[in-house]
Amino acid sequence: MNNFQRRKFLKTLGAVAAVSALSKGRSTATATPRVVVVGGGFGGATVAKYLRLWGGNVNVTLVEPNPTHYSCILSNLVVTGALGMGSINLNYDTLRNLYGVNLLAGKAIAIDGAGNKLTVSTSTGNVTLPYDHLVLSPGIDFVPPPAGYWNSSLTPHAWQAGSETTLLKNQLAAMRNDELFVMTVPKSPYRCPPGPSERACVVADYLKRKKSRWLESHSAGCQR
Ligand SMILES: Cc1cc2nc3c(=O)[nH]c(=O)nc-3n(C[C@H](O)[C@H](O)[C@H](O)COP(=O)(O)OP(=O)(O)OC[C@H]3O[C@@H](n4cnc5c(N)ncnc54)[C@H](O)[C@@H]3O)c2cc1C
Repeated sequence: MNNFQRRKFLKTLGAVAAVSALSKGRSTATATPRVVVVGGGFGGATVAKYLRLWGGNVNVTLVEPNPTHYSCILSNLVVTGALGMGSINLNYDTLRNLYGVNLLAGKAIAIDGAGNKLTVSTSTGNVTLPYDHLVLSPGIDFVPPPAGYWNSSLTPHAWQAGSETTLLKNQLAAMRNDELFVMTVPKSPYRCPPGPSERACVVADYLKRKKSRWLESHSAGCQR
């Protein structure tokens, strides 16, 4: 990364923080700038990593409640059985040990924009983190359907990798040939614009292969 790109990256980060009114005047700035990043998904983890790589002498703390991150990106491969959940479970060891990012296990619950402080709820109580720059990367959350319209143990959406991914995989594996797979496209905005098309193709391919395997074994049985 040359100096120009590095400066541009830091300038952009500064601009984002300024727009969000989360970065205050230099009076609170320290000799080693403190950047707090909320959210250890791909967004937050990437910012944390590249701040440490390109940011020079920057103290970076990543706040994330979960000890590991399940990759949504790879989750369709779990749905078809090509990968296990363990393969898409990513930990933060490299961020911590190789890039020197500080990890704080907890959930950001309050921002004091005037005082440049973030309050984090942790297993041992609330912690206050002072910052010079704050990056918010908490991803998106779900808007639940009205009560009675959705039963997650019957109709998983599996748009967030985790237990629903496993449930959908098991449901697909248990499908009989005369059963129908129905999926809907989430209302925008949602986690991944090409996600539904990708899942439809992956599931169609999986069921086609599964069915042809069934046909092969069925016809082999008939020949005997
Ligand atoms: C099936 C599927 C396939 C996909 N395929 C692709 C693909 O091929 N390529 C691609 O680029 N993208 C793909 N995507 C999209 C991609 O997964 C998302 O764009 C990406 O995960 C978003 O990352 P994020 O860091 O913004 O948010 P998230 O991954 O949601 O991470 C947010 C993090 O913030 C944490 N958090 C939330 N609130 C707080 C809080 N208050 N305090 C502290 N931490 C908090 C959460 O625990 C979480 O770890 C796919 C998505 C799906 C569902």
